[in-house]
Amino acid sequence: MHVIDEIKQTNTDMAKAYVKTVFETVKSRNANEVEFLQAVKEVFDSLVPVLAKHPHYIKHGILERVVEPERLITFRVPWMDDHGNVKVNRAFRVQFNSSLGPYKGGLRFHPSVNSSIIKFLGFEQIFKNSLTGQPIGGGKGGSDFDPKGKSDTEIMRFTQSFMTELCKYIGPDVDVPAGDIGVGAREIGFMFGQYKRIRGGFEAGVLTGKGLGYGGSLARKEATGYGAVYFVEEMMKDNKLSFKDSTVVVSGSGNVSIYAMEKAMQLGAKVVACSDSSGYIYDENGIDLHTVKRLKEIEYKRISEYVQEHPHAKFVSGFEGIWSIPCDIALPCATQNEIDESAAKVLVANGVKAVGEGANMPSTLEAIDVFLNNKILFAPAKAANAGGVSVSALEMAQNSSRLSWTFEEVDAKLQDIMKNIYQESVKASEIYGAPGNLVVGANIAGFVKVADAMVSQGLV
Ligand code: NAP
Repeated sequence: MHVIDEIKQTNTDMAKAYVKTVFETVKSRNANEVEFLQAVKEVFDSLVPVLAKHPHYIKHGILERVVEPERLITFRVPWMDDHGNVKVNRAFRVQFNSSLGPYKGGLRFHPSVNSSIIKFLGFEQIFKNSLTGQPIGGGKGGSDFDPKGKSDTEIMRFTQSFMTELCKYIGPDVDVPAGDIGVGAREIGFMFGQYKRIRGGFEAGVLTGKGLGYGGSLARKEATGYGAVYFVEEMMKDNKLSFKDSTVVVSGSGNVSIYAMEKAMQLGAKVVACSDSSGYIYDENGIDLHTVKRLKEIEYKRISEYVQEHPHAKFVSGFEGIWSIPCDIALPCATQNEIDESAAKVLVANGVKAVGEGANMPSTLEAIDVFLNNKILFAPAKAANAGGVSVSALEMAQNSSRLSWTFEEVDAKLQDIMKNIYQESVKASEIYGAPGNLVVGANIAGFVKVADAMVSQGLV
């Protein structure tokens, strides 16, 4: 073997051993946190060629440090329901990594929330935020509170109690939360009001996703869904495909899903199915988005009600079955691990050409392997759904400058950011020997900026 090849081989062996050792430690320290371990494994598996090429990251202990949150805050949220009963929920904020800027990441209200879910989301957010090229660190938070079936006054009392504690740890230059599952404009409004009341000033930049009348950004509501479609369109264009005349299936019917459907339709696709946690609707004529928006954004109803207004459509109980519907493009936009290995195999057998992750970690590691092994175009969440946080950072910029940009200005910036993330992911996948593998490309492109900043800032 040539000397240079021998050195490369030695470095690769050393990098593999390092990754394995650190991952074993992460496993033993976080044994019950399956979602967090899954997210770490996906990133670590991509990093061997980077660590082999830049062994100083090993010397600086970057992996050991990047998997430990700078801070994990847990607190109780006592509140009273409409019948005078005391309720107590558990809440979290993980401030994972601030090497690129203030912590930034959404808040999730869902009964499944626990430290593993919040840590997986916060860990992913570090690299996603880095990919956007904006000055934002990684954080995430939420509570096991279930907003379903709660009255507006219950939601308000809960969110006020939640913010009464959270406000001690956040601020426009410290940590800037936004929405996520179960947290939309209504919840952000209540939280902003409570923060302002306690802190006594109008610090618009403390939360993003605010209402347009008090510091919110145009196009923030649309940003994650639109951004995911922009990313997938870019990926398809490179492969001589497009949304035009494609059949699309989108899971979920929340914020990300609705605006992914809207942009896909604007680009000429037919969206035939969407879901919520109770089941999915199939409308072979194409989903009527006005009905979905009214049911979900205004009336907070179940997706099953769609068929009452569109009797030719059908509702099927159980959301998992949505992936059995043949489609050209699948956009999972609901929740983590919603596409497992067998669902991925069904999608491939039915001829899917592209999969774009609007939700966070919606495909299991085995499902991703199925897509990659079958050469399906695959847009990973970290890159594809970064549009939401990108426009959140644009909201922060508008708040700091006390200016408001038009919808068109924000949308144009969003498109540029998504194209740039796509190009950077492609470039990294090529430089590090995995051309076309955007999982590897996005993980590496996101990691390198964070690792370099951590090296520059010393052992903190
Ligand atoms: P959302 O508005 O609350 O909508 C979530 C949708 O997914 C709802 O239709 C919900 O159905 C369904 N869903 C939630 N949990 C589910 C579960 N365990 N099983 C099946 N269906 C489930 O939330 P969102 O903001 O659209 O977020 C969706 C995904 O995108 C999440 O993974 C989130 O982390 C990710 N994301 C969001 C943003 C953002 O800007 N909002 C940015 C980046 C990534 P039910 O109503 O029945 O619960």
